[in-house]
Amino acid sequence: MNHTISTKTKLTGLIGHPVTQSLSHKMHNAAFQYLNLDYMYFPFDIQEKDLPNTVLGLKALGFKGFNVTMPFKQTIMQYLDEISKEAQLIGSVNTIVNCDGYFVGHNTDGKGFIQALKDENLDVGNKVFVLAGAGGAARSIAVQLALEGVEELIILNRTIEAANRIAEVIRKNISSCKIKTDDLSDKSLRKYVNGADVFVNCTPIGMFSSQDKSVIEDSSILRSDLAVCDLIYKPQQTRLLQIAEDKGCKTINGLGMLLWQGAFAFELWTGVPMPVSYIKEILFQIK
Ligand code: NAP
Repeated sequence: MNHTISTKTKLTGLIGHPVTQSLSHKMHNAAFQYLNLDYMYFPFDIQEKDLPNTVLGLKALGFKGFNVTMPFKQTIMQYLDEISKEAQLIGSVNTIVNCDGYFVGHNTDGKGFIQALKDENLDVGNKVFVLAGAGGAARSIAVQLALEGVEELIILNRTIEAANRIAEVIRKNISSCKIKTDDLSDKSLRKYVNGADVFVNCTPIGMFSSQDKSVIEDSSILRSDLAVCDLIYKPQQTRLLQIAEDKGCKTINGLGMLLWQGAFAFELWTGVPMPVSYIKEILFQIK
């Protein structure tokens, strides 16, 4: 199908500020076109003051659904009609589905991360995970890992109170998961990474603006049988992943999570699975 707009085209999109770095429109529009689905995905850069009117506008226009990115993943929740249980535990929403005029909020980030690990033959059950960072992404991953039966979670963060807040939610709601928190220092990294199976960087250290930095600089903290994940996908090979690769660790960047959080949103909107192998090819070529 030639991807042109018809009078029946179903609308989806993204709201955030800024949205210039987003790859979501490329991913979803390519998938709609590949499957001959009469859908379109539009990125919208909006101001915080316009958020309530934007939600009303998207509802009035009959949008089938949309994604939400920074900085609205939490503030959007008050304007929705229903929030999934996972998104309530995570405390933020990245995907909204229009169910007959009701806007239902979901969070597909944590599920996307776990599916990306599965793609790399990494099962999370009975594993010990160390997360560096306690922001929105860390929280979605921590909650989902706990729901999926991870053995133990250790959350290290510059501001320990933020790590403690995630731990409280998990202790209260998913009591099967052991959880510890500590500060983010070389000393605690060495202490906890030593007994871990997987280390995940959930901070922006190493992103395009700090490409010469890594949350772990001292490679003696790592072991060759450790899996090291970085949520960052620009650049695809961060300094952390380079250090880990040199040490012989299995390394996973943030592209798989980006792909799968989008794939889960796509299926919620359309009812059909995203053609992930095809979209992966496109996504992984974008520099
Ligand atoms: P966020 O909510 O702003 O949280 C950032 C976290 O990083 C906080 O815990 C913060 O610690 C910590 N941090 C920031 N700068 C730091 C520094 N210089 N030193 C030590 N800690 C620092 O951000 P987020 O949404 O969780 O995103 C985190 C990262 O994940 C970003 O790189 C983002 O691009 C990536 N991400 C990737 C995907 C994907 O699909 N691959 C999805 C979502 C996010 P404090 O609490 O002390 O401030």
